[in-house]
Amino acid sequence: MIYADNAATTRMSDAAIEAMTACMKETYGNPSSLYGIGQKAKEALEGARDEVVKAIGAEDYREIIFTSGGSEADNQAIRSAAEFGKQAGKMHIISTAFEHHAVLHTLKKLEKEGFEVTLLDVHENGLIRPEEVESAIRPDTCLVTIMYANNEIGTIQPIREIGAICRAKNVLFHTDAVQAIGHINVNVKEDNIDMLSASAHKFHGPKGTGFLYVKKGIKITNLIEGGAQERGKRAGTENVPGIVATGVALKEAIDNLEKNAEITQKKRDRLIAGLKEIPHSAINGDENSRLPGNVNFCFEGIEGESLLLLLDDKGIQASSGSACTSGSLDPSHVLLAIGRVHDVAHGSLRLSINEEITDEEVEYIIKSVKEVVEYLRSFSPIWRDLVAGKKEFIL
Ligand SMILES: *Cc1c(COP(=O)(O)O)cnc(C)c1O
Repeated sequence: MIYADNAATTRMSDAAIEAMTACMKETYGNPSSLYGIGQKAKEALEGARDEVVKAIGAEDYREIIFTSGGSEADNQAIRSAAEFGKQAGKMHIISTAFEHHAVLHTLKKLEKEGFEVTLLDVHENGLIRPEEVESAIRPDTCLVTIMYANNEIGTIQPIREIGAICRAKNVLFHTDAVQAIGHINVNVKEDNIDMLSASAHKFHGPKGTGFLYVKKGIKITNLIEGGAQERGKRAGTENVPGIVATGVALKEAIDNLEKNAEITQKKRDRLIAGLKEIPHSAINGDENSRLPGNVNFCFEGIEGESLLLLLDDKGIQASSGSACTSGSLDPSHVLLAIGRVHDVAHGSLRLSINEEITDEEVEYIIKSVKEVVEYLRSFSPIWRDLVAGKKEFIL
C-alpha cells in the first residue's frame, strides 16, 4: 500500500507513539494535582509546551494554548478576535475564498451575527496578493485570517508580507498554519503573526491534539467554560498523552525539516513532471510556492471519485481534495476559487507525500494514474464529446 494522503492525516511517528504510551502507563496523574504523579504530568505537559515555543519561534510558554486540534484553534482565534472587535465597534473580517472549513464556517456564522466578511481572491495560481490585503483593510477591520499553506493545492502564501501589512495597519493577524507547521519554516516573530493554529496529526503526532499560539499582549477568549486549565483559556483536563506526543513529533519534524523537505520535494517534482505528460491535464496551484509534499492535478473528461477508487484498487491511497468534501457531490471550493470550472474541478487528484516514499513507488503512481485516466476516458461521454469536437477542451 502506498499512502499518499498525508495532507488528510499522517501516521504517528514511532517516537511519538512511544512517548504517548509511556505517558499513559506511567504519567497518568492529573496535571492539576499537587502530589507526585500529578506534578510529573504537569512537567511533561510543560516540556511539550516548551517544544512548541521553540518550534515556532514564540517568546514565552504563556503564548501557547493546547486545543483538541486545528479546528478548535481556528474557531477560538476567530471567535476571540470577533468578540473583542465587536466591543471596539469593529465588525469587519478579511479572509480568503479557499480557507479550511474550520475558518469559513466560523466566518459564515459570524456573518449571521452581524459581521461583514471580505473573502479575498486567490487568483489562478492560488496565491494571495499582499497589496490586495492592504487595500481591503478598513478602519473597522478587526481581523485578517489567511492560511499559511493550502491543504488541497499546497500553495504557500506570502505570510510575512501580509503580517507586516497587518502590523503596520494595527490589525490582528491570524494564520491557519496546520499544513505548514513541521513541513516548512514558520517563525511567528519573523512572520509577524499574532495568532497561529496547528494540528498534531498533520505532522506525525496524534489526532485530537493541536495548539493555538497567541502573541503576548493579545487578549483571547475561551470557547469552553470550566476549570482553570491552560491559564483559563481552555477548560478541561489536559490531554497529557496527546500533548506529550505532540511535543515529541514536533521536535522530530523540526529537527529533520530541511532534510525531509529536500527529499520530498524531489519526489514531488518527479510526480508533477510525470503527470504533466497526461494530455489535457493541469497542475492546480503555483508550482514554486508550494508545500514540498503536495501534488494536485485536474484531468479533463474524468470524474475524480472513480479515479480514486481505481487507484485504491492498485494500492494507492490518495484523495480528490480535502477529506471534508469527499462524499459530497460538490466540487472543491478551493478548485473553484482558483477558477476551475465544475467539470474540470470534478476530475481532481491530490497526492500528498512525504520523504518515506520510494522512487519505485513514485514511478508506480505515475504509471497507474496514466493507466486509470486513459481507462476512464475510454468510456466517458464527456471525453467522447471533447474528442469529437462537440465540446471544447479547457485544459
Ligand atoms: C486538517 C486541517 C485543519 C483541521 O485540523 P484538525 O486537527 O483536524 O481539527 C484545519 N486547517 C487545515 C488547513 C487543515 O489542513
